[in-house]
Amino acid sequence: MESSSGSITQFYNCLVLKDHNLVKDYLYVQDGKIIDPAKMFWEEKRTPDVRIDCKGGIVAPGYIDVQINGAFGYDFSNDTDIIEEAVENISKGLLLQGCTAYCPTTVSSRPEVYHKVLPHLGPRKGSIENGAAVLGAHIEGPFISPQKKGAHELATLRTAKNGLSDFDECYGLENLRKYAAYVTMAPEVEGITDTISALIKETGISIASGHSNATTAQADEAFKKGANMITHLFNAMHPFHQRDPGIIGLLGASDSRPFYGIICDGIHVHPHSVMIAYYAHPNGACLVTDAMSAQSLPDGFYKLGEMDVDVHGGHVYIKGTNTIAGSIATLAECVRKFIKFTGASKVEALENATLHPAQMLGISDKKGTLTHGADADILILNQDLDVQRVFIAGVEATSNNVRFKQKL
Ligand SMILES: [Zn+2]
Repeated sequence: MESSSGSITQFYNCLVLKDHNLVKDYLYVQDGKIIDPAKMFWEEKRTPDVRIDCKGGIVAPGYIDVQINGAFGYDFSNDTDIIEEAVENISKGLLLQGCTAYCPTTVSSRPEVYHKVLPHLGPRKGSIENGAAVLGAHIEGPFISPQKKGAHELATLRTAKNGLSDFDECYGLENLRKYAAYVTMAPEVEGITDTISALIKETGISIASGHSNATTAQADEAFKKGANMITHLFNAMHPFHQRDPGIIGLLGASDSRPFYGIICDGIHVHPHSVMIAYYAHPNGACLVTDAMSAQSLPDGFYKLGEMDVDVHGGHVYIKGTNTIAGSIATLAECVRKFIKFTGASKVEALENATLHPAQMLGISDKKGTLTHGADADILILNQDLDVQRVFIAGVEATSNNVRFKQKL
């Protein structure tokens, strides 16, 4: 019989998020994974080596943020010369906030920026040494609509009239294959819908529709071709119109519907809009912060890509305008606000920041779940969903063993 050797940790006195419920149960961890305790008890006659009292709290999978541009003073699109330092410090800082896995996100940039930064944004294991796991880059743009560019720089936007070769020139197909999790594109941009299927086949990445003026027909077409996600629903897209609801209309499709990122910081999207999305497609929500470099730092002037942005009172604007340019929210705040805005259950809100983003990326056997065999990325939360303790690959992360610096 194969013997499991590593020390076994038991979480007790807790409500465990499993099977879409909060269940009074124990959770067992060994060698960085969630384990089935039956083998330990009955075959190996072992008892836990370490016991963790959760004090009546909730045990949930670590949060997953699939859209974050930066934090702690660093920006994935702007800090190209110190990109390793940026990844290192953001990964560690996010981990201590309870975000145990994420997709570093880039704004529309010039090809040389992608060729330089993407090799540093590829998948990386989560650990005390590495910080939060990197799930691969989320590349937002530059194949997006000039009319819905938001905080993206107009001069960087492109079309794909030559198909795959345009993507190759812009990002490098090999870079997409190795380092990207998903790309946000506007379906109506020339060449996009014709190329989505080939791009997915060629690189294995996921495609999201966003920063787009797509009509309902164009949005439907992209979805049929394999796009499975909507980037920051309601922001930077064709507003809902009764006869042509655009990308937003996909939430009302009668067959399958895409996942959608939503920035639930109370600023980007009105609480009523969050409620509409929740009613329309509760199992599709992926809470994202869309955070930028000023997350966790004081008000002031910062960079988003090459844009100057002004951060004050929780708002982020392109300097001198009223265009919103990312958030300074944490995912933990977005989870709590989602409940406040919608009256959703704790389970639903937690799954929006764990299970759904993992499903969107096709990794829900390992991340966003506490099922046996999954990575032991675990949060202990109190009943108000404040993060109390964070574990990555089975080891507790604290400010003593995870040290990072901010770029001021
Ligand atoms: Zn965006």
